[in-house]
Amino acid sequence: MNTKPIHIVGGGLAGSEAAWQAAEAGVPVVLHEMRPVRGTEAHKTDGLAELVCSNSFRSDDAENNAVGLLHAEMRLANSLIMASGDVNQVPAGGALAVDRDGFSAAVTARLEAHPLISIAREEVSGLPPADWDQAIIATGPLTAPSLAEAIASETGADALAFFDAIAPIIHFDSIDMDVCWFQSRYDKIGPGGTGKDYINCPMNREQYEAFVRALIDGQKTEFKEWEGTPYFDGCLPIEVMAERGPETLRHGPMKPMGLTNAHNPTVKPYAVVQLRQDNALGTLYNMVGFQTKLRHGEQSHIFRMIPGLENAEFARLGGLHRNTYINSPTLLDGTLQLKLRPGLRFAGQITGCEGYVESAAIGLLAGRFAAAERLGRPLAPPPATTAFGALLNHITGGHIVSDDEPGKRSFQPMNVNFGLFPPVTMPKTEGKRLRGKEKTQAKKKAVTARALSDCRGWLGLDMTAEAAE
Ligand SMILES: Cc1cc2nc3c(=O)[nH]c(=O)nc-3n(C[C@H](O)[C@H](O)[C@H](O)COP(=O)(O)OP(=O)(O)OC[C@H]3O[C@@H](n4cnc5c(N)ncnc54)[C@H](O)[C@@H]3O)c2cc1C
Repeated sequence: MNTKPIHIVGGGLAGSEAAWQAAEAGVPVVLHEMRPVRGTEAHKTDGLAELVCSNSFRSDDAENNAVGLLHAEMRLANSLIMASGDVNQVPAGGALAVDRDGFSAAVTARLEAHPLISIAREEVSGLPPADWDQAIIATGPLTAPSLAEAIASETGADALAFFDAIAPIIHFDSIDMDVCWFQSRYDKIGPGGTGKDYINCPMNREQYEAFVRALIDGQKTEFKEWEGTPYFDGCLPIEVMAERGPETLRHGPMKPMGLTNAHNPTVKPYAVVQLRQDNALGTLYNMVGFQTKLRHGEQSHIFRMIPGLENAEFARLGGLHRNTYINSPTLLDGTLQLKLRPGLRFAGQITGCEGYVESAAIGLLAGRFAAAERLGRPLAPPPATTAFGALLNHITGGHIVSDDEPGKRSFQPMNVNFGLFPPVTMPKTEGKRLRGKEKTQAKKKAVTARALSDCRGWLGLDMTAEAAE
């Protein structure tokens, strides 16, 4: 075999899947994994694809859940991570949970046995050398420091983050626009806006005081010992601001200045929560300045106290974690390739996706893109209507950069969710207009059916055979 290998750095969820996909396409792979030579703060074994915390791949419902749909697409694409998860499944209701040791052992054994894969147990401490003309960096949220430094110096220090400070994201169609209104502060149009770029949620004094109390009383998650307490000015958790005094939030992210309630113009709101468009499709809005360490259960309950958000559906809840990830929307092209250095791709959580399954899915895509290029048959990205495409689009192109905070990095990691998919035309229902829950369910089914059909098309699978099954 004369084909030059693809070098993959990191044998976690993404690197293992990328190695499998490239090798199955017929391209040799060298997979470089630093454990057990050097460990991370969270990994405990030397197995490939170790699950560092929960043993769940979340919902396995491909009809009604976006991560379940991603499972289904990965199974169609011959995913090693899904196949190893399926054979090591443990009972967990509608979720796919796995025996973590059996799962990691299965991934390791299949990669070790593959004739086109060799595994080098070593730390890669700088960017891949020039003679690794096709390489994938998949070193995850706990990338070893020397490699992280090398990435920062290649891409620019602002392009690499070591913590995420995540504010919750809400599905637009769950916001009550009879209570909220569109307006930018002081109606500023800015370089790329309209003067109506934010959704505003008004609070009176009583509501504000109850909200501040709930933030202070809410249960928080703790930092792990090795994480430190990474609070930076301008990025304080909302509950830390609340603890600094009852007026702090009203003079910070919840200030009511420059805003007039379109539904009640004569009454000045006492405080305002602002939501900003988060994706190009306009289906998701983030809560401006609401990064938080509140527990997830507390967040849904407390943030639904905000007028207009009583029925909010969250695409993502807030958090603050140690996490190494690059500013992918500016750095990567649509095939996960570093624009500054063609042939070098990134995969997994370091690209700004979140979660085991999403990281493996981005590894799967990176492995296929790199192999296709090596074989001289470049591969188009998956359609945006698939879970693969929706997630890839979030990473490489779908994120909106705010014009009114120039220079501020706003791209944050995200799990796959229905808000990342383009709207779907609903199939007609005979004689009946769907509403509420029924309508939401029908919409999800239409999105997932479209996704699976488009994914089969992208993978070149025989659709007539599928239909006949
Ligand atoms: C503490 C913690 C808890 C988490 N809990 C969950 C959870 O419950 N559920 C969930 O879905 N996600 C969780 N995550 C996120 C999870 O890490 C990712 O979803 C997933 O593991 C990312 O896959 P990856 O392949 O990108 O990175 P990883 O799986 O971390 O793999 C990266 C690999 O690269 C290796 N490596 C790093 N640097 C180098 C180097 N320089 N040279 C060679 N090898 C290197 C590492 O040893 C590791 O094996 C958690 C993350 C952390 C940090």
